Amino acid sequence: MSFEIDPRLSTRAVRGGSSPDPATGALLTPIYQSTTFLQEAVGRHKGFTYSRAANPSVDQLERALGEIEGSLPAVCFSTGMAAITTLFLTLLESGDHVIVSDVVYGGTVRLLQRVLNKYGIAASFVDTSDPQAAEAAIMPKTKLVFIETPANPTLKLTDVSAIALIAHKAGALLAVDNTFLTSILQPVLDQGTDISVLSTTKYIEGHNSTVGGSLALRDSTLTEKLRFVRKTLGCIQSPLESWLTVRGLKTLPLRLKAHCENAHQVAKWLEAHPVVSRVLYPGLPSFPQHELALRQHKAHGGLVSFEVKGGVDAGIDVMNRVKFCYLAENLGAAETLITHPASMTHGDVPVEQRAAAGITDGLIRLSVGLEDPQDVIADLQQAFAALPVAEQEKEAKCASR
Ligand SMILES: *Cc1c(COP(=O)(O)O)cnc(C)c1O
Repeated sequence: MSFEIDPRLSTRAVRGGSSPDPATGALLTPIYQSTTFLQEAVGRHKGFTYSRAANPSVDQLERALGEIEGSLPAVCFSTGMAAITTLFLTLLESGDHVIVSDVVYGGTVRLLQRVLNKYGIAASFVDTSDPQAAEAAIMPKTKLVFIETPANPTLKLTDVSAIALIAHKAGALLAVDNTFLTSILQPVLDQGTDISVLSTTKYIEGHNSTVGGSLALRDSTLTEKLRFVRKTLGCIQSPLESWLTVRGLKTLPLRLKAHCENAHQVAKWLEAHPVVSRVLYPGLPSFPQHELALRQHKAHGGLVSFEVKGGVDAGIDVMNRVKFCYLAENLGAAETLITHPASMTHGDVPVEQRAAAGITDGLIRLSVGLEDPQDVIADLQQAFAALPVAEQEKEAKCASR
């Protein structure tokens, strides 16, 4: 599977938001590790006063991300959840309603069901892969539709343009959690989205070394409101994390290309393996929404979910037997990580809600990294070989000969 990333994006990723330091010639923008900034006179300063409001290192990251997103400079946060919390608190007030995809990041579910519910903000979790279901869920007080596509961890897709029409017709805004593909592979703002949401922790920084989040928009009034709430809550990104994220961003197009190619290889191998009962990867023709994937994505990302025969026990067995793939939460980094959504990332999501969303207890999520994909395949191969179900398959084959 091969695809080309718009070469202009490569330049923007490397050069966006930065220029050599005029004072010293340092090629990279220094880390502005400073709480406060000298004011020339009362009310006269260079745009920075206190690092909870703004900081030059954060500013650089925001300009760089804005170039990738095709937006105004983004608004960056200490975590992805801080970005999502700020978005909800800025757009919603008591009595308001938000429609959310039924398969979303576990933290988003927790925020709505266990924190914001206390403040009179109502959320409906809807299968947004069905635009009619999304439309039917609209209420007079619906202010926001918040979707995640591909969704964590089943990779179910939502048609962004179709939902944008529905949200806008109802006078609501559309936000897309674009963490799994980023605007490089899925330019959501061009597809009708008002707010592009990212956990920069994942592909953007890409090296398992920071946590962070961002919101990118083309509306300057709403951007300023978000900055105001961020300053009030105190959840801006830090200078050092911003600097590291800028460094990660430089190789984002290159890394994504490799992640996509490696994941596709692993997905094809999984699909052909007799102990695997189900593989979910939008780039496979067998994926239920493959056509939408081709329409909406430039390529299909680095995440592959699958299930092995033998249910939960076999799934847990695989995760305990892998040696090369790291059993850890997170995704989108150089190292291949394997997770068990039902007990790890989605452990707090109520069982019935998990079942309805297709997050079965045997589901395994693989974030395919940048290593040789053959190493990942060999690791899964040895883990599968030890499963009781693999023994049965072998016996069945012998008996049929
Ligand atoms: C990780 C993640 C988040 C939350 O981001 P943090 O940086 O961990 O707070 C939100 N949405 C998705 C899809 C994620 O994968």
